[in-house]
Amino acid sequence: MQLKDKVAIVTGGASLRGIGWAAAKRFADEGARVVILDLDAEASARAAAAIGPQHLGLACDVRDEAACRAAVQRVIDACGRVDILVNNAGVSQSQRLMDSTQADYDLVMDVSVRGAFNMSRAVVPHMRTRKSGAIVCMGSVAAQRGGGILGGPHYSAAKGALQTLAKAMARELAPDGIRANAVAPGMVDTELLVGKIDEAGKRRVAEGVPLGRLATAQDIANACLFLASGQSAYITGVILDVSGGLHIH
Ligand code: NAD
Repeated sequence: MQLKDKVAIVTGGASLRGIGWAAAKRFADEGARVVILDLDAEASARAAAAIGPQHLGLACDVRDEAACRAAVQRVIDACGRVDILVNNAGVSQSQRLMDSTQADYDLVMDVSVRGAFNMSRAVVPHMRTRKSGAIVCMGSVAAQRGGGILGGPHYSAAKGALQTLAKAMARELAPDGIRANAVAPGMVDTELLVGKIDEAGKRRVAEGVPLGRLATAQDIANACLFLASGQSAYITGVILDVSGGLHIH
């Protein structure tokens, strides 16, 4: 039980096929009490209940600073602490540079970057008082490679900014005992791909992956567990590629 008695918040975890839910489930399997934050209250509650009755699911738009603070306060009231934050909420868009609108840019940047900024700022005071915490940000190999598969340039830029936010938080928060890292997945077979790529397209992408397949949400959840647990106690400020070798540098 790597996360016994820990409390973990996972944003964007309401889809049972998604990375966030897989991470929340993995954490719970290791003894954590998990809190899923997502846009819809009922979907969040259902996703938490699918893991077990002791877990919480709350509505929170991570773009809204006050909503993030209120959600974290509810977690503190209900669970008494917060040990782990996974900044996983994200929106993917594949529009090319000249086809993207200001609204597209705002949405993609705000959910990934402002969302992680808001949520991290909401949990850090609590983590600081206990001199302990782990923050995991969900980046993307699109940031490492400059996109090129599904994400448009604004998506790649958002993930690059998020990964750099993780590094900056790692540097600043290390004296408080708080670690911050990012995971950079390659293509993961989740709802995010729906309408963007068909099965034949997925097979073509898989052929270009050295390990010969797309990632599963479970592959990414395992990396989140590593970065959230004591197994990575001496690791902070890293971008962990989980891409089957798609980005070997
Ligand atoms: P997903 O669509 O299942 O998950 C994204 C979740 O974020 C959804 O549940 C959505 O409701 C939630 N969300 C969107 N806006 C939000 C907001 N403002 N506040 C709170 N929640 C919000 O897809 P996924 O593939 O599980 O994606 C999870 C993360 O992984 C995303 O950050 C995504 O960019 C990243 N990622 C995915 C892939 C992939 O190939 N699927 C690859 C690299 C990185």
